[in-house]
Amino acid sequence: MKRISLAAAAAAATTTVLLAALTALAAPAAPAALAATVPPAAAADAVSAPPSGPCALSGPGGAYQFEGVPTPGNFRTSSGAVKAYTVFIDFPDAPAEGTPQERYAEFFPAVADYYGKSSYGKMDYRSTPRLQWIRMSKPFSAYGIDRGVPFQPGYEAVTREIVAAVGDEADLGSYDVLNVLATPNAGPPATEKVLSVTFAGGYMDLGKGSVPWAGSFIWSRQTGDSAWRVLAHENGHAFGLPDLYATRSGYPPHFAGHWDPMDEDWGPTNDFMAWHKWKLGWLDADQVGCQAEDGTREFTLSPLSVSGGVKLVAVPVSANELITVEARTKGELDAAVCRPGVLIATVSTRVNTGTGPVRVADSTPGSEGCYTDPNVSADFSDATFTPGQTYTDTRNNVSVQVLGTDDDGTYRVRVTKGADAG
Ligand SMILES: [Zn+2]
Repeated sequence: MKRISLAAAAAAATTTVLLAALTALAAPAAPAALAATVPPAAAADAVSAPPSGPCALSGPGGAYQFEGVPTPGNFRTSSGAVKAYTVFIDFPDAPAEGTPQERYAEFFPAVADYYGKSSYGKMDYRSTPRLQWIRMSKPFSAYGIDRGVPFQPGYEAVTREIVAAVGDEADLGSYDVLNVLATPNAGPPATEKVLSVTFAGGYMDLGKGSVPWAGSFIWSRQTGDSAWRVLAHENGHAFGLPDLYATRSGYPPHFAGHWDPMDEDWGPTNDFMAWHKWKLGWLDADQVGCQAEDGTREFTLSPLSVSGGVKLVAVPVSANELITVEARTKGELDAAVCRPGVLIATVSTRVNTGTGPVRVADSTPGSEGCYTDPNVSADFSDATFTPGQTYTDTRNNVSVQVLGTDDDGTYRVRVTKGADAG
């Protein structure tokens, strides 16, 4: 048996269950005919240079996920070709009720398409499925799988059995991430308790020496029309992204609402915030405006939902905190946008995952919001600033005035840093 050790693996759970009212699970889409391997997609567009310059604030590093850039090398690459190996597991007391092809079709090609579109072609996500159920040796309960448990011993035991089953069929160390899709009837329904989790930022000996390793484990099924996003969220951790919802008590439940799948990955599809797109290597240098010096500048922001143009304006206010400004309009990946406008947030590169590393500024605090869905934080749904509105941060002397919008969805903003911010 191959020996596995995982050093300093950090778990990151998925979102808490938001559902107030549960809807019946939709039947999975009819399985498409799936080949054993996915043919290589077209080559990704030229890879962007890693974030640099005075707005590229670094984080503390280590095994946990932080917002700092560039992402430490112990996490997985998120631009260019990203290779996932996708396996299927079931248990003696929870034998699979469907085929691996059906389970796979719940997530692919949706997840790969999503990353391709959200990255503007910068990520070429290639999943190789191993279309057989791997029967675990013991009942589900024997592994101690529960929300928030560490990698050892349960997940290590599951992983050890997967590695043994795959054997020489694949060189797991050559893949960027291992996706483990469990039979949905193992464990509690996701509507009761979310078990899906990613272990990333650590190293694993897969038989050829220690290599950076990330594993995303998906349990049960989410509801809603883009339930596959649980895997997009989990893979986000493999790429180094932190949770934007609160994973600990003592915080409000959400800091970013439906403006990023690292906060809410249930319900209608949503795009990554611009900071994450930069961090993930999807924005070229000329798509990021950085206002590090005091003064006033005007920017024209192109909405995240279309390719090209300036996507992010960042205003650093300390060595580890900055204000981010982006345009959000309704689009294919931003299906829930009900108040198009300028989204403003505070990004802290030393705030740990699950404790608010990104905090969206709500232009309409206390409002009921403009999107009705139990999977969408309504109060944040109308957080955007619209023409005529001004965001003012008196603590950091930053203001952002929304000057206007054009037919193509671009927004013009005037950003002031320093004493003149008022
Ligand atoms: Zn998570």
